[in-house]
Amino acid sequence: MSTRPLLNRRLDGLGTTIFAEMSALATATGAINLGQGFPDTDGPESVREAAVRALRDGRGNQYPPGPGVPELRTAVSDHQQRFYGLTVDPDTEVLVTAGATEAIAAAMLALLEPGDEVIAFEPYYDSYVACISMAGAKRVPLTLRAPSFRPDLDELRSKITSRTRLLLLNTPHNPTGTVLTAEESRAIAALAVEHDLLVVTDEVYEHLTFDGARHIPLATLPGMRERTVSVSSAGKTFSFTGWKVGWVTGPRELVSAVRSAKQFLTYVASGPFQYAVAEALRLPDAYFADFRATMLARRDLLANGLERAGFKVFRPAGTYFITTDIRPLGESDGFAFCRTLPERAGVVAIPNAVFYDHREQGAPFVRFAFCKQTAVLEEAASRLKTLGA
Ligand code: PMP
Ligand code: GLN
Repeated sequence: MSTRPLLNRRLDGLGTTIFAEMSALATATGAINLGQGFPDTDGPESVREAAVRALRDGRGNQYPPGPGVPELRTAVSDHQQRFYGLTVDPDTEVLVTAGATEAIAAAMLALLEPGDEVIAFEPYYDSYVACISMAGAKRVPLTLRAPSFRPDLDELRSKITSRTRLLLLNTPHNPTGTVLTAEESRAIAALAVEHDLLVVTDEVYEHLTFDGARHIPLATLPGMRERTVSVSSAGKTFSFTGWKVGWVTGPRELVSAVRSAKQFLTYVASGPFQYAVAEALRLPDAYFADFRATMLARRDLLANGLERAGFKVFRPAGTYFITTDIRPLGESDGFAFCRTLPERAGVVAIPNAVFYDHREQGAPFVRFAFCKQTAVLEEAASRLKTLGA
């Protein structure tokens, strides 16, 4: 056999995702898993029942239409109108995907040429790095620095070159919890318009904002609709991460480009679940308000517990993750800390360093997920308190 490495250079070095590694560690050690972001209770019973009904009624058991079932595309369109006043045509401006993950992959594969530069917030959600690389493009980090984890917009301007094709933005941001303000969003939009950039926005935590922070889709800003591919997913908003129903909205030309790539990735996915998510998107406002309030209470429960345990806590304005600094505990290497945490305290967390190009910049930061039942968070907090003892 040839001595050429089997894994191509585009994927070399990406390893196993940290989420798989840390969830396996949780299973192996029996530790409480506050690593991978998935809720430990399923979403609304009515939505689960809607999936069962679809399955029983034979809706979606065979290949659904390539762009997604019309019921879901219409529901996505209505959701954009209801929450953001955005008008999108369900027939040409909505594309259903296998989670936000496929939407991001298809967008990168469709919109980038080898050598194009993509500016994204660092720490990056791990699939961005892989997808930009698979498209042969180059990622350019705009680092969100502690303690505020806010983007430096002068730095953003300085990073735009003639090769910059696209901004890949995530707000609310995983793992820091940063939610772009109206002012930041306007400034970013103005730069995108000035330099004629495409923008892909990952909005999977759109309904999880706290303390008065408000999610503003960049597509709502002047000059942005025609250049923005907005991505979201049912996983986080409705607590069904295993269903893998996501979607893309945007102008016809961009959605059509993304569809060109998407049709050769999965073609289609999640047939019956698409019908159920269509119902979920039509849940009354009270559902979204209760979901947010429940998660806010959990954020505070875990944040207070982490503070009592000696961590420096960056209380997030969005998402269901808390980034902490472990230096007050006398630690500085998040990787080593997370690898031994199950043994030391029976808890699993994620080292933020994996989300950085310059890993040393993320070394002291560790992420905990709070999308867990109250009793689980209380137990985790009480276990973590033994760390400083
Ligand atoms: N983007 C971000 C920022 C995420 O945290 C996640 C995980 N939910 C995804 C995308 C992937 O979403 P999905 O599970 O719908 O593929
Ligand atoms: N988005 C989830 C997180 O950040 C993980 C999803 C996955 O495992 N790919 O924890």
